[in-house]
Amino acid sequence: MPRSRLLAVDEGDFGLVLRAARFAAWKHRDQRRKGRGHLPYINHPLDLADVLWFEGGVRDPVVLAAALLHDTIEDTQTSLQELQGEFGEQIARIVMEVTDERSLHWRARKKLQVSRARLASPAARQVKLADKICNLRSMISSPPNGWSIERQRAYFDWSKEVVDQLRGANPELEARFDQVHKKRP
Ligand code: ZN
Repeated sequence: MPRSRLLAVDEGDFGLVLRAARFAAWKHRDQRRKGRGHLPYINHPLDLADVLWFEGGVRDPVVLAAALLHDTIEDTQTSLQELQGEFGEQIARIVMEVTDERSLHWRARKKLQVSRARLASPAARQVKLADKICNLRSMISSPPNGWSIERQRAYFDWSKEVVDQLRGANPELEARFDQVHKKRP
Protein backbone atom coordinates (compact mmCIF):
# COMPACT_ATOMS: atom_id res chain seq x y z
CA MET A 1 0.00 0.00 0.00
CA PRO A 2 1.24 3.47 -0.75
CA ARG A 3 1.05 4.45 2.89
CA SER A 4 3.35 1.70 4.13
CA ARG A 5 5.75 2.42 1.29
CA LEU A 6 5.97 5.98 2.52
CA LEU A 7 6.60 4.82 6.06
CA ALA A 8 9.47 2.66 4.86
CA VAL A 9 11.45 5.73 3.82
CA ASP A 10 14.25 6.43 6.22
CA GLU A 11 13.80 10.03 7.23
CA GLY A 12 17.50 10.57 7.82
CA ASP A 13 18.37 9.36 4.33
CA PHE A 14 15.69 11.46 2.75
CA GLY A 15 16.81 14.48 4.74
CA LEU A 16 20.39 14.05 3.55
CA VAL A 17 19.37 13.98 -0.11
CA LEU A 18 17.07 16.94 0.37
CA ARG A 19 19.78 18.95 2.09
CA ALA A 20 22.20 18.18 -0.74
CA ALA A 21 19.65 19.34 -3.35
CA ARG A 22 19.06 22.55 -1.44
CA PHE A 23 22.78 23.23 -0.96
CA ALA A 24 23.54 22.61 -4.66
CA ALA A 25 20.61 24.77 -5.80
CA TRP A 26 21.94 27.63 -3.70
CA LYS A 27 25.53 27.22 -4.89
CA HIS A 28 24.58 27.01 -8.58
CA ARG A 29 21.92 29.72 -8.28
CA ASP A 30 23.52 32.13 -10.77
CA GLN A 31 24.58 29.54 -13.35
CA ARG A 32 22.94 28.26 -16.49
CA ARG A 33 23.62 25.20 -18.65
CA LYS A 34 25.47 25.71 -21.92
CA GLY A 35 23.00 24.20 -24.40
CA ARG A 36 19.97 25.63 -26.10
CA GLY A 37 17.40 26.92 -23.64
CA HIS A 38 20.09 27.71 -21.05
CA LEU A 39 18.38 25.72 -18.33
CA PRO A 40 19.17 26.56 -14.71
CA TYR A 41 22.36 24.69 -13.78
CA ILE A 42 20.67 22.79 -10.95
CA ASN A 43 18.70 20.79 -13.53
CA HIS A 44 21.94 18.96 -14.32
CA PRO A 45 22.72 17.57 -10.83
CA LEU A 46 19.02 16.76 -10.44
CA ASP A 47 19.18 14.84 -13.73
CA LEU A 48 22.08 12.78 -12.37
CA ALA A 49 20.17 11.86 -9.22
CA ASP A 50 17.16 10.98 -11.37
CA VAL A 51 19.22 8.74 -13.64
CA LEU A 52 20.88 7.02 -10.66
CA TRP A 53 17.55 6.37 -8.97
CA PHE A 54 15.28 5.45 -11.89
CA GLU A 55 17.72 3.95 -14.38
CA GLY A 56 20.57 2.70 -12.21
CA GLY A 57 18.44 1.46 -9.31
CA VAL A 58 20.73 3.30 -6.89
CA ARG A 59 19.22 3.65 -3.42
CA ASP A 60 22.30 4.66 -1.46
CA PRO A 61 21.61 8.19 -0.13
CA VAL A 62 25.34 8.90 0.01
CA VAL A 63 25.69 8.31 -3.74
CA LEU A 64 22.55 10.34 -4.49
CA ALA A 65 23.72 13.25 -2.32
CA ALA A 66 27.20 13.16 -3.88
CA ALA A 67 25.58 13.27 -7.34
CA LEU A 68 23.61 16.38 -6.38
CA LEU A 69 26.80 18.00 -5.11
CA HIS A 70 29.15 16.69 -7.81
CA ASP A 71 29.83 20.03 -9.54
CA THR A 72 29.90 22.32 -6.49
CA ILE A 73 33.66 22.28 -5.92
CA GLU A 74 34.51 22.42 -9.63
CA ASP A 75 32.03 25.09 -10.68
CA THR A 76 31.07 27.15 -7.62
CA GLN A 77 32.70 28.82 -4.64
CA THR A 78 32.62 25.70 -2.51
CA SER A 79 35.61 24.30 -0.68
CA LEU A 80 36.34 20.75 0.29
CA GLN A 81 36.25 21.83 3.94
CA GLU A 82 32.78 23.26 3.50
CA LEU A 83 31.46 20.00 2.02
CA GLN A 84 33.15 18.00 4.77
CA GLY A 85 31.51 20.20 7.40
CA GLU A 86 28.06 20.07 5.83
CA PHE A 87 27.93 16.50 4.54
CA GLY A 88 30.78 14.56 6.13
CA GLU A 89 34.01 13.03 4.96
CA GLN A 90 32.56 10.27 2.79
CA ILE A 91 30.42 12.48 0.55
CA ALA A 92 33.15 15.13 0.29
CA ARG A 93 35.60 12.45 -0.83
CA ILE A 94 33.28 11.19 -3.58
CA VAL A 95 32.77 14.74 -4.87
CA MET A 96 36.55 15.25 -4.92
CA GLU A 97 36.96 12.04 -6.90
CA VAL A 98 34.75 13.40 -9.68
CA THR A 99 36.16 16.94 -9.59
CA ASP A 100 38.51 18.00 -12.37
CA GLU A 101 41.72 19.84 -11.63
CA ARG A 102 40.81 23.31 -12.85
CA SER A 103 44.36 24.61 -12.89
CA LEU A 104 45.23 22.28 -15.77
CA HIS A 105 44.84 22.96 -19.48
CA TRP A 106 41.67 21.28 -20.80
CA ARG A 107 43.65 18.72 -22.76
CA ALA A 108 45.58 17.60 -19.69
CA ARG A 109 42.40 17.67 -17.65
CA LYS A 110 40.67 15.32 -20.06
CA LYS A 111 43.59 12.90 -20.04
CA LEU A 112 43.68 12.96 -16.27
CA GLN A 113 39.97 12.16 -16.09
CA VAL A 114 40.58 8.95 -18.05
CA SER A 115 43.47 7.81 -15.85
CA ARG A 116 41.71 8.75 -12.61
CA ALA A 117 38.52 6.89 -13.60
CA ARG A 118 40.34 3.59 -13.28
CA LEU A 119 41.11 4.26 -9.63
CA ALA A 120 37.70 5.66 -8.63
CA SER A 121 35.60 4.15 -5.83
CA PRO A 122 32.35 2.34 -6.74
CA ALA A 123 30.33 5.36 -5.53
CA ALA A 124 32.33 7.82 -7.64
CA ARG A 125 32.11 5.51 -10.66
CA GLN A 126 28.34 5.56 -10.52
CA VAL A 127 28.18 9.34 -10.18
CA LYS A 128 30.59 9.69 -13.11
CA LEU A 129 28.58 7.27 -15.24
CA ALA A 130 25.39 9.23 -14.60
CA ASP A 131 27.26 12.46 -15.40
CA LYS A 132 28.44 11.09 -18.76
CA ILE A 133 24.96 9.79 -19.62
CA CYS A 134 23.40 13.17 -18.84
CA ASN A 135 26.06 15.13 -20.69
CA LEU A 136 25.76 13.05 -23.86
CA ARG A 137 21.98 13.28 -23.74
CA SER A 138 22.22 17.06 -23.45
CA MET A 139 24.76 17.14 -26.28
CA ILE A 140 22.24 15.34 -28.51
CA SER A 141 19.13 17.25 -27.51
CA SER A 142 20.75 20.64 -27.23
CA PRO A 143 24.40 21.01 -28.31
CA PRO A 144 26.23 24.05 -26.92
CA ASN A 145 26.25 27.05 -29.22
CA GLY A 146 29.12 27.03 -31.68
CA TRP A 147 30.14 23.39 -31.19
CA SER A 148 30.99 21.83 -34.56
CA ILE A 149 30.09 18.21 -35.35
CA GLU A 150 33.80 17.34 -35.01
CA ARG A 151 33.94 18.81 -31.55
CA GLN A 152 30.78 16.96 -30.54
CA ARG A 153 32.23 13.70 -31.89
CA ALA A 154 35.46 14.23 -29.98
CA TYR A 155 33.39 14.79 -26.84
CA PHE A 156 31.54 11.51 -27.40
CA ASP A 157 34.81 9.65 -27.99
CA TRP A 158 36.44 11.07 -24.89
CA SER A 159 33.36 10.29 -22.76
CA LYS A 160 33.53 6.67 -23.88
CA GLU A 161 37.22 6.52 -23.03
CA VAL A 162 36.39 7.61 -19.48
CA VAL A 163 33.43 5.24 -19.16
CA ASP A 164 35.47 2.28 -20.41
CA GLN A 165 37.64 2.78 -17.31
CA LEU A 166 34.60 2.83 -15.02
CA ARG A 167 32.94 -0.39 -16.03
CA GLY A 168 31.92 -2.93 -13.42
CA ALA A 169 30.21 -0.53 -11.01
CA ASN A 170 26.66 -0.55 -12.39
CA PRO A 171 25.77 -2.65 -15.47
CA GLU A 172 22.40 -0.88 -15.95
CA LEU A 173 24.05 2.51 -16.16
CA GLU A 174 26.76 1.18 -18.44
CA ALA A 175 24.09 -0.16 -20.79
CA ARG A 176 22.34 3.25 -20.73
CA PHE A 177 25.60 4.92 -21.58
CA ASP A 178 26.22 2.55 -24.50
CA GLN A 179 22.70 3.27 -25.74
CA VAL A 180 23.20 7.02 -25.78
CA HIS A 181 26.72 6.70 -27.19
CA LYS A 182 25.27 4.94 -30.25
CA LYS A 183 23.67 8.27 -31.14
CA ARG A 184 27.08 9.87 -31.67
CA PRO A 185 26.62 12.60 -34.31
ZN1 ZN B 1 28.27 17.24 -14.19
